[in-house]
Amino acid sequence: MSTPSSTVAFDLICVGGGYAGLSAAARAAQLGLKAVVLERGADELYACNSRVAGGVLHVSYNDPAVPPDTIAQAITEITAGYADAALVKAMADNASRAVHWLQSEGAHFERLTTAGWRNWVLAPVRPPATHLEWQGLGSDQGLRALEKNLCERGGALHRNTQVIDLIEENNSCVGVHVQRGDSTMEFRGRAVLLADGGFQANADLLKQHISPAPQALKQRNVRTGVGDGLRMARAVGAAVSPLEAFYGHVLSRDAMHNDRLWPYPQLDELAAAGMVVNPLGQRIGDEGMGGVYITNIMARQPDPLALSAVFDEVIWQGAGRAAGIPPNATLIEHGGTLFKAATLAALAAQLGVDAAGLEATVRDYNAALAAGKLAALKPARSATRRKPMPVATAPFYGAPLCAGITYTMGGVRINANAQVLRENGSTIAGLYAAGASTGGLEGGPAAGYVGGLMKALTFGLLAAEHVASGVQKS
Ligand SMILES: Cc1cc2nc3c(=O)[nH]c(=O)nc-3n(C[C@H](O)[C@H](O)[C@H](O)COP(=O)(O)OP(=O)(O)OC[C@H]3O[C@@H](n4cnc5c(N)ncnc54)[C@H](O)[C@@H]3O)c2cc1C
Repeated sequence: MSTPSSTVAFDLICVGGGYAGLSAAARAAQLGLKAVVLERGADELYACNSRVAGGVLHVSYNDPAVPPDTIAQAITEITAGYADAALVKAMADNASRAVHWLQSEGAHFERLTTAGWRNWVLAPVRPPATHLEWQGLGSDQGLRALEKNLCERGGALHRNTQVIDLIEENNSCVGVHVQRGDSTMEFRGRAVLLADGGFQANADLLKQHISPAPQALKQRNVRTGVGDGLRMARAVGAAVSPLEAFYGHVLSRDAMHNDRLWPYPQLDELAAAGMVVNPLGQRIGDEGMGGVYITNIMARQPDPLALSAVFDEVIWQGAGRAAGIPPNATLIEHGGTLFKAATLAALAAQLGVDAAGLEATVRDYNAALAAGKLAALKPARSATRRKPMPVATAPFYGAPLCAGITYTMGGVRINANAQVLRENGSTIAGLYAAGASTGGLEGGPAAGYVGGLMKALTFGLLAAEHVASGVQKS
């Protein structure tokens, strides 16, 4: 291996070319800084979650342009108070400005529904396909616009350039080592931004923090987030948030081998209106917390591929048609398994679930629902986020499930300027992080989802602006 030394001084070096890295670099260049993005992907349209995203810019299912107080309240509620107050404020105060900035960079938006959380959808809008479709669509076009602007402002994006570690001198981060083919080289600069997109595709880290059986999770993403940023930040003393929660959705188990069944349809609404059971016919968690939470609970089971959603005809005709790409009827159309039976015992036999166990679970659940005593169930069932429905009207349905992981919500601890923090709360001079590689805003015990694109965009901007302000306190 050769080791040519390329000691070029940059103001900002961004590790990763998703929305976090490219927003930061384009904004830094706009502010007159010398910025570079180092991206591991080699293709012109290298894969990253940002490029394939659905393009809905929302903050905890709110329009990013609503008043800051509304946004702050939504994040606090969805994370059940877990979110770091400083990060909540930073997001609330800057979300509107961030979407307008992205628009001014040339990204196009469409307002999709009267429901506020789809007021800012990157255009051209993704068609309602169940499979991964992204080329030329809004998220992809937005990234292309940012790269073009970065280059026109004198910056650069280097593909096929994997950052392997940080260069630390006198307790400050002063650059990175990169690998390009067989060569290693270094890039030096005033600041480095980690924007590598999380650790969802790292089986060891998943096993340590998220699931006893990572191979049994469906990678509902493009597998570029392997935890490099987390590793590098830890090596220089960064604090890390709890790493257990991830953003993901309940999918048909057939998605494990059938690409027409991911990233959609999500079976979240079926699971949340009815129940999710294990092979003993027992519920595994509080379905009322919604699909992202249930997916997290599924991942923690000894065998995440042994779980089924159970619901009835009323739920299938109602909640089954509720989503933008509803499971009724896309699930069956695209080869997903759906069992249907006149009795719960017959359904249990098809699902490979203990019949007596399932009958008892459904009986207890229906009785608790009728009596208003869902909180007394074990596990308890809440009713505020997702309305519980009886499982009572034949035919009964069962869908074999898998847990789809999109990105990890825990990660490197940052402050409101996106500066990386040490355990004692001080900052690591010269080191920033943004997007899915960061923790503290999303996740927690409620697995509260804030919005991957807005997190990447907003904290990318904040990092660039802080570097531009010239403040480098440690
Ligand atoms: C199917 C799908 C749909 C989604 N839809 C939405 C949506 O509608 N709304 C929403 O808010 N969110 C959505 N998301 C989530 C959202 O896409 C992500 O949270 C967000 O794009 C993360 O941006 P990022 O810049 O942090 O990371 P990424 O987009 O993952 O970019 C990280 C980049 O870093 C590179 N990289 C990794 N390691 C290194 C290294 N060592 N050196 C150099 N480069 C490296 C990777 O190759 C990658 O290009 C969706 C995700 C998926 C998969």
